[in-house]
Amino acid sequence: MLKRKPKELNLSDASPATPAAQPRIIPRSEHAISRSHISPNALRVLYRLRDAGFMAFLVGGCVRDLLIGIEPKDFDVATDALPEQVRRLFRNCRLVGRRFRLAHVFFGRETIEVATFRATSAPSQGDEPLPEADPEDGEAPELDDDAVAVAAEPVAPARGRGAAGDDSDDSAERAFDASGRILRDNVYGTIDEDVWRRDFTANSLYYNIADFSLWDYVDGTADIAARTLRLIGDPETRYREDPVRMLRAARFEAKLGFQIAPATAAPIPPLRGLLAGVPPARLFDETLKLFLTGHGARSFGVLRRRGLLQVLLPTVDAYFASHPGSLIEKLLLQGLENTDARVIADKPVTPTFLFALLLYGPIAGLIEAAPPERWHEVATILDACDRATREAQGRIAIPRRFSLGVREMFALQPRLEHPRGRRALRVLEHPRFRAAYDLLLLRAQFGLASADMAQWWTQVQEVSAEERARMADALTGEGPARAAAGPRRRGRRRRRRSGSPAPA
Ligand code: ATP
Ligand code: MG
Repeated sequence: MLKRKPKELNLSDASPATPAAQPRIIPRSEHAISRSHISPNALRVLYRLRDAGFMAFLVGGCVRDLLIGIEPKDFDVATDALPEQVRRLFRNCRLVGRRFRLAHVFFGRETIEVATFRATSAPSQGDEPLPEADPEDGEAPELDDDAVAVAAEPVAPARGRGAAGDDSDDSAERAFDASGRILRDNVYGTIDEDVWRRDFTANSLYYNIADFSLWDYVDGTADIAARTLRLIGDPETRYREDPVRMLRAARFEAKLGFQIAPATAAPIPPLRGLLAGVPPARLFDETLKLFLTGHGARSFGVLRRRGLLQVLLPTVDAYFASHPGSLIEKLLLQGLENTDARVIADKPVTPTFLFALLLYGPIAGLIEAAPPERWHEVATILDACDRATREAQGRIAIPRRFSLGVREMFALQPRLEHPRGRRALRVLEHPRFRAAYDLLLLRAQFGLASADMAQWWTQVQEVSAEERARMADALTGEGPARAAAGPRRRGRRRRRRSGSPAPA
């Protein structure tokens, strides 16, 4: 066991957080992580690796979250077992990734990711495009709820192995592009090399299943206590290797309420343009993590303040820059807050609704650019949706099913605002009705659609079929009849302007 080595606390911003050669080992009695807060499946994986003679640690966000006292989203394991050795240990396991082989161990709906220690500053698993099953792995693994399967064959312990195991692919040497981005690296390493490839000190603590101690190479525990987000190593180099780390900094600032250390924040403005070179599919994934995990409203604020929205969603940023304090911005923030509340209440949320909120500004801007008499024509609205999506696709690969959903949500707005007779009720069966109705409610909340009409749709969903038909018959063509709608409608001038998502 490594001894704790005295080392100066690395809290000054002048010097980069450089991993120590040996970790500070914090015994179980001196930290707050209890096994009762760790997923039983993660514990099963850790114990099985340990019992087979391997090193096994929980690592990354889950250790950070356990120390802060919040529930981890998922549990990641780091080990000195090579991917093939992990696979042989678990029947419910599949290897994924091309540049890096990672093992996914499945337990019903929970997946525990097991990564072999990597050499120095190799990019993270987040850098893989998307985990895909390897053809050679054949069939999908049997999903096995009841813990781990017994190893099919005995596995030799890997203790004492050097930086690269026998079957590691050392030939895949590290390669960088012109801006310093790592393109390829596939060399397995030791735990004290693995720490280098992690991003922030707070994300670099290892919980050792052998004795329940914490291994800290970078004063991550001190940074967590001080609520500081600090990149390991030279920040500029780390952002150049992987520009997504800028978005991750913003995400953790929003999620954890940590302060980004000045030296970690300083290179963001000059380097944020590098995000334009990141594969759009990866930026889509990061966008969902920023906005659909319970802190979307705060993410939006951080992205704007740090100038990152202008690279992630340039047209959204431009719309708000040219319409300061607009109703659409208020609508977006309210929509993000509603989404956050749904995530926290464990209700489903959809990328379609998220992108409808985010793209509302650019869509409205494009509609406004058309002659006013065309603003509520469906063709104008659809054209604006298509153009706004196309422009956003320059950076973020929005899958088609979501962009089509956004289109439908906006196209339904005039139908919801000007229902005509009983035929209007058919829209209730539309697969996108619920999302379109939610958007209508938000628009009405900010005076961008008739509140009477929003109220009418709320009511019509709650009443019997007969009452529904009666309400539809009572529609005047100008909106709900007074008897059904309750409060007096607004003046004619204002009503005539509604029916278009444009704000005027
Ligand atoms: P979350 O709470 O969102 O799951 P997380 O810290 O666990 O946060 P993940 O994306 O799940 O983030 O990654 C797990 C760990 O892998 C991180 O804590 C970090 O140590 C490392 N990591 C992930 N992405 C990167 C990256 N782009 N650069 C460096 N290290 C990374
Ligand atoms: Mg995680």
